[in-house]
Amino acid sequence: MAAIVVQEVGVLDSERELLDVRNPADGRVVGRVPNEGPKVVADAVTALRAAQTAWEALGPKGRGVWLGKLRDWLLDNESRLTDVLQSETVKPRAEAALEVPFICDVINYYARNAPAFLADEKVRASGPMSLPKRLRTVYRPYPVVGVITPWNFPLAMPGLDIVPALLAGAAVALKPSEVTPLSAVELATGWAEIGAPPVLRVLTGAGATGAAVVDTVDYIQFTGSTRTGRQVARAAADRLVPCGLELGGKDPAIVLADADLEHAAAGVAWGGLFNAGQVCFSVERVYVEAPVYDQFVARLTAVVESLRQGADGRGYRVDVGALANQAQRDIVERHVTEAVQAGARVLTGGKPTGAGTFFEPTVLVDVDHSMSCVREETFGPTIPVIKVADEDEAVRLANDTEYGLSASVWTRDRARGERIARRLDVGAVNINDALFNLFALTLPHGGWKSSGIGARLGGARGIRKYTRMQAITAPRGPELQEQILWYPYRPGRGRVVSRMLRAMVARDLRRRFRR
Ligand code: NAD
Repeated sequence: MAAIVVQEVGVLDSERELLDVRNPADGRVVGRVPNEGPKVVADAVTALRAAQTAWEALGPKGRGVWLGKLRDWLLDNESRLTDVLQSETVKPRAEAALEVPFICDVINYYARNAPAFLADEKVRASGPMSLPKRLRTVYRPYPVVGVITPWNFPLAMPGLDIVPALLAGAAVALKPSEVTPLSAVELATGWAEIGAPPVLRVLTGAGATGAAVVDTVDYIQFTGSTRTGRQVARAAADRLVPCGLELGGKDPAIVLADADLEHAAAGVAWGGLFNAGQVCFSVERVYVEAPVYDQFVARLTAVVESLRQGADGRGYRVDVGALANQAQRDIVERHVTEAVQAGARVLTGGKPTGAGTFFEPTVLVDVDHSMSCVREETFGPTIPVIKVADEDEAVRLANDTEYGLSASVWTRDRARGERIARRLDVGAVNINDALFNLFALTLPHGGWKSSGIGARLGGARGIRKYTRMQAITAPRGPELQEQILWYPYRPGRGRVVSRMLRAMVARDLRRRFRR
């Protein structure tokens, strides 16, 4: 594929700094995008703010029509979009091809449900003092939402957040990762090609561009590392604007002695190696009850050894792709090297392979909780396995981390699995599966502890988070126009009103207690 020079993102003049986008397998430049500075970001956000009012006025149904057109455009361009995505990530075709259908699923779900999720809510009076009024809670969008995304899912990550934000009635400034911006730029191209209102803008660039977005928008939805998330939270606090943070993880898998070991080995391998381990919810450490440890490790190693790695093209021929860039490969290599130096053993994999940023799918044993491969987020194709005496030790070690994104529990006893889930300090637990919660749009997707603040998705909450609640009161009828608490109190009226209110509240209390 020829390199893409992105002109759609504003006017590309000769003065503007460009960033190279490289194919991780061979280092080839596959595109160039502008590294937007604060002035371009501020101007773009001003234009978005101006366009947002008419977008909000369309209502959820009207906005859903535009999102439906975007979905159709995505499906019409699916194969080309998957090519672009592969060119900047070197994902296997089977993994890259998941991203367009995934966004379409998000569009279908939220466009169908937005009118109900955003409908005004009639609220009952809490007691006699609020009885004279009709009460409503109304969901009004933040004018401009800034969506900042990482490189691991270049289409799906932006899609997860821009779809509900747009449907909520907000305009969106999207700042994709500088490592993989081409797919996000395609989203903006699609939005323009369908002729939609100018309420989606893609602002390419590095960290400073993201910081400029944080400095100008009304709500920040950030996905990325915990380190950057802390910076974003500090900047948001200074401006007193809210932020949602989806950050790093170190997700444990607990394999109990009563698990179906064949199933557990295949599931843990997939959970650890999908997208070459570059998933926030990846299985990053495995605790196995002692009686089945040897059997499980043998099966897991066999599964991992059977996987094919390489650059795929359109062939659906490989299972594991490359890491996003050299820096990421260096982290993975450091974690493995440090573990081995401290006494761990590599059962399969363990080193960089081929050209570019490939790292062999790796199983590590004899690891302990002092090692970086167990304490730090690796975000690569490594699976460290630890033997534990029992369920209690597994839970204690699983919780011994600063992170709290998700976990998986592998057992034939579902009730036991659910009991253990309630002891784990994480935002999601999959029983006999890994990563699955990510595909369930009706469930909240958020991290505890250093893994984030707030959550995305989760039915109505996933769209209402991009709105501010507005309280509206109105008289029930003309005879109740004059509120009894109004100034000025006429002579004697203050005493009468306060006695009356006291009596009403007391009567209300008695009635409630009688029930
Ligand atoms: P990163 O934090 O380096 O960058 C994320 C985004 O933030 C990029 O677009 C980057 O340009 C931008 N950025 C950098 N500095 C900024 C600043 N000061 N202000 C605003 N924006 C700034 O993360 P990454 O390396 O691209 O992605 C990998 C990380 O993302 C991993 O830690 C992974 O766990 C996490 N992640 C989390 C989830 C989740 O849902 N919890 C999902 C995917 C990835």
